[in-house]
Amino acid sequence: MKAAFPGSFDPPTSGHVNIIRRAASIFDELVIVIAENRQKKYLFSSEERAGMMKELVKDQKNVSVTVCDGLIVDFLKKNDIKLMIRGLRGVEDFSYEFEVSMMNKTLDPGIETIFMTTDPEYFVIRSSTIKELASFKGDLHGMVPPLVAKALKDKYN
Ligand code: ADP
Repeated sequence: MKAAFPGSFDPPTSGHVNIIRRAASIFDELVIVIAENRQKKYLFSSEERAGMMKELVKDQKNVSVTVCDGLIVDFLKKNDIKLMIRGLRGVEDFSYEFEVSMMNKTLDPGIETIFMTTDPEYFVIRSSTIKELASFKGDLHGMVPPLVAKALKDKYN
C-alpha cells in the first residue's frame, strides 16, 4: 500500500524523520510531498527542502521525495495514492489536523488521513522553533539531523 507524507519541511527535523521511518516500515511505499505554497514564506526554497530530504532518506529504498505546488488532494489523485500520513504532537496539532482532514475529505472523499503520534523525545520539536533557535545560534543537537543543522548555520551566517 502506498502512502504520502505531505508537509512544508522547512526544514526537515528529527521529528519528521522519526515519522518517516515508522511510516515506511508500515507501508510498502512512502512518498514525501514537499509543499510549495506561494502564499507562504519559507526559509528554504523547495529545491533546498527536497535536496535535504532526499539526502535524509537515501538509504530507505521505499521512500521517495517530490515537490508539489498545487493542492495535495489533486497530487494524490493524479498519483493514485489514497492514504495521507500526518504527525501529531498533541491536542493542538490534532484540532488543526482534524479540520484539514475534514476539508480534504470534502474535496475528495476517497482520501483517508492517518495520524501517527510522535515518539516522546520529539514532542517539542517543530520547524518554527528550530528556526528561531538557529537564528540565536542555539544548540540544535538531536532536534535536527546534522546536515540540516549545517544548512541552518549557513543560512543564518
Ligand atoms: P505543515 O505541513 O503544517 O507546514 P510541517 O511541515 O511542520 O507542517 O510538518 C509536516 C507534518 O509533520 C505535520 O503533520 C506535522 O504535524 C508533523 N510533524 C512535525 N513535527 C513533528 C514532530 N516533532 N513529531 C511528529 N510529527 C511532526
